[in-house]
Amino acid sequence: MRSKLTLGAAAFAVLALTACGGPAGTTSSEAPEESTDSGSSTEHPYGLEVAEAPEFEEGTTMAELSEAGAITIGTKFDQPLFGLVGPDGAPEGFDVAVGSLIAAELGIPFESIEWTETVSANRETFIENGTVDLVAATYTINDARKEVIDFAGPYYEAGQALMVQAGNPEGLTGPDDVAGLAVCSVEGSTPAARIVDEYGAELQATDAYSNCLDPLRNGQVVAVTTDNVILAGFVDQNAGEFELVNDGETFTEEPYGIGLTKGDDAFRDWINDVLDEAVADGTMAELWEQTAGTVLPTPEFPATDRY
Ligand code: GLU
Repeated sequence: MRSKLTLGAAAFAVLALTACGGPAGTTSSEAPEESTDSGSSTEHPYGLEVAEAPEFEEGTTMAELSEAGAITIGTKFDQPLFGLVGPDGAPEGFDVAVGSLIAAELGIPFESIEWTETVSANRETFIENGTVDLVAATYTINDARKEVIDFAGPYYEAGQALMVQAGNPEGLTGPDDVAGLAVCSVEGSTPAARIVDEYGAELQATDAYSNCLDPLRNGQVVAVTTDNVILAGFVDQNAGEFELVNDGETFTEEPYGIGLTKGDDAFRDWINDVLDEAVADGTMAELWEQTAGTVLPTPEFPATDRY
C-alpha cells in the first residue's frame, strides 16, 4: 500500500503551512521555462498526487467534474484545524485536506478548487441549490439532514463538548450544569439544538463559532458548545484564554460526513471508496498529521457507512 502523497511532500506541506503565509509551491525564478517536466508546476499544499486523466462513466458527477477540471467545495472559514482561511485567502485544515483529496482523485489540482464558505445553517441549502458540489465542514451525519441531502463517510468521529474561560470560573463539570445559563453556539448545528433540548441552556445563537469567542471572554455567556475538536482549535488559537470542561469530555457522537446531492448514489459510493482507500493506505493519517494532528492525537479513522 502506498499513500497518495508524493515523496517528501508531507515535509513540504508542513513547511508550507508553517511558513509565513507565502503561497505553497513558489518556485525558483531560475527554473528553466522550457522545462519538460510534465507534472503540474505547483506543488499540492497537502502533498497529494493529482490523478492524471482519470476515467469515469459518462453522465456521472465524477465525469462532469473531472472533465470541467474544477469543483466548488463548501467548508468552514473560521475553524482552526479544520477549515480556517489563511493569509493567502485559501482555507486550510483537515476538512480542506479531505476535500482536496476528493478533488485530486478527480484529477483536479488544488488551485482549481473553488472554496465557498458554508456556515452550519446553510450547508443543506447550498448542496440542494447547487452553490457547491460537496460540503466538507465538520458536518455531522444524521437522519434529519439525510432527508434533504446524502452523506459519504464518516471520515472522523467528533463529539460535543463545552469550552469555558481559562480557570473555569463557574466551575462547570458538564452539560448538566448549564440549565438556565447562557451558552453560545451556532444556528443550524446539532450542538445548539442539543444544549437547549436536552440540557435546558439559554442559547445565544450566532452564525459562526468564532462569533462566540468575545461573548465568552466578556462573560455574556458561561460556555461555548460544539464539537470537541472545533473547541480544541479555539483553545489552541487563543493561548491561555479558554479551556475545555472536563478535559474535553464529550456527551454526543458527531460522525463527520461529506455532504452531497441527495440521490447521487454513484458519487456517494465513489467518495466512500476514496475515503476507505485513504484510510487503508495511510493517506488519511498523513492529511490529519499535517492539519488537526498538529494539536490533536491521530484517531482510528472510521469505516464509511454505505447506508
Ligand atoms: N458537527 C456539528 C454539526 O454538524 C457541529 C459543528 C458545526 O456546526 O459545523 O452541526
